[in-house]
Amino acid sequence: MALPNIDDAATKFAKQVNDALTAFRADAAKKDNKKPEELADLKVKVSTLAVTKVRKPKEQAEQIVKGVSWTCSSAHMSDNARHVDLSKDGKYVVAPSKDLSADEFKAFKDAWNAAMKANGLLNYKAKDGYDEGDAYHLELPDAKLPVSDKRVQECLTEYADMTRNDGKKKNVAFEKDSTIKKWLDDWEKKNSK
Ligand SMILES: [Zn+2]
Repeated sequence: MALPNIDDAATKFAKQVNDALTAFRADAAKKDNKKPEELADLKVKVSTLAVTKVRKPKEQAEQIVKGVSWTCSSAHMSDNARHVDLSKDGKYVVAPSKDLSADEFKAFKDAWNAAMKANGLLNYKAKDGYDEGDAYHLELPDAKLPVSDKRVQECLTEYADMTRNDGKKKNVAFEKDSTIKKWLDDWEKKNSK
């Protein structure tokens, strides 16, 4: 079965979350005898930053070296992942669990989880539900690439070259995985200068 389109899924997802957040704001205002506009405005938006869309193997390796990704098997490389960012009164929210009030966070998380389910989207671990490890990343099922995939091999090669030959800092968490560790050990035997 063909995968649904990630842009369609992310757009529908964002609309559903925003509808729920608008309803939450109206309810909260009613309880406080206020107008909705007097309360914080929570909104999500599909990110248009290039790095949150499709990535080439080298770009993926750069994300790992930067310490903002921990995998060469990323769904971004098969163009099956998007980021949907949350803002509060127009300001990007870094960590919803810390930067929102308890009520706001609950409303946001509930809306997020429901919209994930409704649109068949998974978190960065390819699992159900909101996960703040990489909060705004959403992907389609079966989108992660196997190590044998040519793009993953290229990403590993780029990473190895950057960290072994160009003096870039290793990503310790990334190298913890036993398959990756073995791949890098083998690469070093063959390629280290
Ligand atoms: Zn991502």
